[in-house]
Amino acid sequence: MKILFVGDGQLGQMLGASGIGHGHECLLFSTRTNTVKPLSAQLDLAMSLAEAIAWADVVSWEHEDIPADILAAAHDKFLMDPARIKSLTDRRAEKKLFDDCRVATSPWQTYRDADELLKILHQAEQPLVLKAARGGYDGKGQWRFRLADNPVELAQQAGRAPGIAEHMIPFEREVSLVGARSKDGSICCYPLITNVHERGILSYSLGAIDPVEDELQQQAEEAFRRLTDSLNYVGVLAIEFFVVTDGKQSRLLVNEIAPRVHNSGHWTMTGANCSQFDLHIRALTGMPLPLLRLEPTLMLNVIGADQIPVGLWHHPDTQCHWYNKDPRPGRKVGHVNIRTANRDTAIKWVAQWAEKLQVLAD
Ligand code: ATP
Ligand code: MG
Ligand code: MG
Repeated sequence: MKILFVGDGQLGQMLGASGIGHGHECLLFSTRTNTVKPLSAQLDLAMSLAEAIAWADVVSWEHEDIPADILAAAHDKFLMDPARIKSLTDRRAEKKLFDDCRVATSPWQTYRDADELLKILHQAEQPLVLKAARGGYDGKGQWRFRLADNPVELAQQAGRAPGIAEHMIPFEREVSLVGARSKDGSICCYPLITNVHERGILSYSLGAIDPVEDELQQQAEEAFRRLTDSLNYVGVLAIEFFVVTDGKQSRLLVNEIAPRVHNSGHWTMTGANCSQFDLHIRALTGMPLPLLRLEPTLMLNVIGADQIPVGLWHHPDTQCHWYNKDPRPGRKVGHVNIRTANRDTAIKWVAQWAEKLQVLAD
């Protein structure tokens, strides 16, 4: 098949590489330069967007902010309604989807401007997280409100653009579910992944390392089922959750979803017989979803560092991925997957390498 991916960042490149590995032809459309690219970004291809859309059997994406001209011109090449997917770039629509699907999430309300936000802050009875409705990622466009904070100052700052105010959740840990839904509605999910963030940005993920209670996995897959059925979704989608514990009982609250492949699924490139990228290609092209075989794997992000030390490239238990992006503090420029026996050894790897691999923004 011929697949056109919207976006030419690392996710697009890894999707394209996987597509090619399955015998498909793949092109990336850069939404930054408005050009169609074959997989090696250095080469230029003299194909217009209209030609690439006509060429493609199917259009997919690495990021859900699909430009309006592609929505219009490629509508029948998508396997689901792309406008619906794009609407989820607005946190208000995303939270409404959770409520509509009766998937538990942190209680929330919207504000349009500083005045509305100020009212919310004055009435707040517990700490809040404020999130700009649009454009936030890696913890950007977020503010914390604690009851001792000055509401006027914060409302001025955070209320410059519309957003949501949600309860701050005292979570026990963060996990994500990465899975795929195929055209016939069958689903295939990896076990819940434990994620650790530093300053709002994913630092590392533990794939198939922490034991997962059946009950929690079922809750997560039920949320996945409801959300993807409602979107009539085809392909890989990730759900980020907070694990909260009341007494001995653990339950999940959805934080946000990513209707695409996701950073917390990168460990599957090493730790699974079918990576999240392969899984997406299978779902897109109507291949059966696999039976998964998994090996415990740590995924350590490379953030802002200018290289991955040679010792890691040499190590027999590691697989290094470098995205060929200019490093700056807080920017994800690569990741290292590490086969590791258990949580203790994973944490030792983190203790040894995270500081060298991660330069965070202030
Ligand atoms: P991503 O890069 O994952 O898309 P993002 O910028 O969209 O991130 P969120 O995932 O909403 O932002 O938040 C980033 C992190 O901030 C979360 O992983 C979590 O650690 C923390 N956080 C967000 N919302 C809350 C909340 N309501 N209560 C407590 N912590 C929160
Ligand atoms: Mg996000
Ligand atoms: Mg997130």
